[in-house]
Amino acid sequence: MRVLFIFLDGIGLGENDPAINPLARAKMPNLNALLDGRSLIKDSAPFYGDHATLLAIDPAVGVSGLPQSATGQGILVTGINIPAELGYHYGPKPNPDVAAFLEDGTLFSRFAKAGRKTALLNAYPPRYFDGIDSGKRLYSSIPLAVTNAGLALFRHDDLFAGRALSADFTGEGWRTILGFSESPAMNPHQAGRKLAALAKEYDFSLFEYWASDYAGHKQQMETAIELMETFDGVLGGLMEEMEGDELLILITSDHGNMEDLSTRKHTSANVPALVIGEKSARAEFTRGMTDLTHVAPAIWRAVEKS
Ligand SMILES: [Zn+2]
Repeated sequence: MRVLFIFLDGIGLGENDPAINPLARAKMPNLNALLDGRSLIKDSAPFYGDHATLLAIDPAVGVSGLPQSATGQGILVTGINIPAELGYHYGPKPNPDVAAFLEDGTLFSRFAKAGRKTALLNAYPPRYFDGIDSGKRLYSSIPLAVTNAGLALFRHDDLFAGRALSADFTGEGWRTILGFSESPAMNPHQAGRKLAALAKEYDFSLFEYWASDYAGHKQQMETAIELMETFDGVLGGLMEEMEGDELLILITSDHGNMEDLSTRKHTSANVPALVIGEKSARAEFTRGMTDLTHVAPAIWRAVEKS
């Protein structure tokens, strides 16, 4: 079974409160259709439908304090309870102690060693690599795991050639902020179809949507709603390409944040594990899944079974 992991940064399952939760306000018809009319909020989980399963899973993994990105993403790609090993949650970027867990034994390194095709589908701009090369920027946990596995991150030429996707899905940021006026433009629906097409070329692929955490820290309701509506368009495109295919899609997060804009901090909310695909594969994938440590083993099992 091929697995596509769509990582939504900083999205918890929050209250059905439109005053603080963009997910209670955003128009997300494709998501609603998958969840028989439900939204991505706390009351919706657990849900077991014809096309999707939604669980609420714990990102705090038994360690006190608010969950953070470096450790949360580290758990997601290793299955190791890194906060329990260290005694704390840490982020946003990995310190040396967190980074040590990402040297080997990640999903990316294990799949690469097993001869499986795996990739992080985001394209990174030249200034990202300039920042890394000059030491001014640290990799976050997911790209660190990818590069440690000996895999290359996709660059602007990969984006232009259609081998990778823009982190905002549409390419808008590449044209307006990064100055690549010729960058491929897609609407969210087209980006979803593209994402499905790319995912079918890999045994395991991951796409990282990080702007949601940023909007949560900035407490930007309108931006957050736009981000989620864009994501819903992507879901629509993805679903169009799902018919009869051996693809399982997992959508989850490292910690809550955006679902409660009354605070600029992360939250203690559970995060969604939204799984889309064939029913028995979903049942097997989500069996016993209650916290972030269960995600990587489930991905490993699903891919290795094929
Ligand atoms: Zn954050």
